[in-house]
Amino acid sequence: MASKIRLYVECDLGSDERVLMRREQAHYVFNVMRCKPSDTLLLFNGRDGEWQAKVVENTKSSGQLLCDHRTRSQEFPPDLWLLFAPVKGSRTDLIVEKATEMGVARIVPVRTSFTIVKRVRHARLVAHAIEAAEQCGGTFVPVIEELQSLDSVLSQWSVERNIMFCDESEANRKRSLDRMRRGPWAILIGPEGGFSESERKCIQSAFYCNTVSLGPRILRADTAVVASLTMWQKAFGDWR
Ligand code: SAH
Repeated sequence: MASKIRLYVECDLGSDERVLMRREQAHYVFNVMRCKPSDTLLLFNGRDGEWQAKVVENTKSSGQLLCDHRTRSQEFPPDLWLLFAPVKGSRTDLIVEKATEMGVARIVPVRTSFTIVKRVRHARLVAHAIEAAEQCGGTFVPVIEELQSLDSVLSQWSVERNIMFCDESEANRKRSLDRMRRGPWAILIGPEGGFSESERKCIQSAFYCNTVSLGPRILRADTAVVASLTMWQKAFGDWR
């Protein structure tokens, strides 16, 4: 029986490659999903595409799978980064989950002047990205960076990467994406308190910055992430 279970693994995938399952994966596959030897599931590692694999051994806490054939070739998202200020509660997890589904290559949590959240749990964000990739059928998990200050990210910026600066103070103006700009991009979304005047000035003074409005209403940061990714994907991305 072909199963819908998809798992992200770190090891190489290829014909007759054996994959050892981690404890939580084995728990999910054998205890929750009740898979038995010779049942099949799908694996991906972000490099080798998606593979169908068969259960060859199972215990409660581990298991071995044997790769059979490739079911999808490796797909990479567009060269788009998401820079966002972490927000309170589970909305940061949600942002990572939604950005993974929408298709980004890299996620960079940034501390801005009005960012209240002081720390992010990096491993937890990675787990959310993996889970999102498993469920949305993607073969890629975006790289997630540690929290760093917006200043330091911008001071090391490589200038060929455009920034789509989502600025809430533009909410009532009509400013949309400059579709003529070629090359890699990053989207920048602020925290609950928005951007400070000096941040706004500094970002907008860069020639690679494209300030945009996300419509006449002020969106919460997690909504702004989805809206901006929709806008960008439609203009430059892989939605065609
Ligand atoms: N407290 C701020 C709103 C911050 S909303 C205020 O009331 O002005 C969080 C982030 O979402 C913003 O920093 C911005 O990056 C983005 N955002 C929300 N609504 C937007 C809009 N209409 N246009 C552009 N960006 C928006």
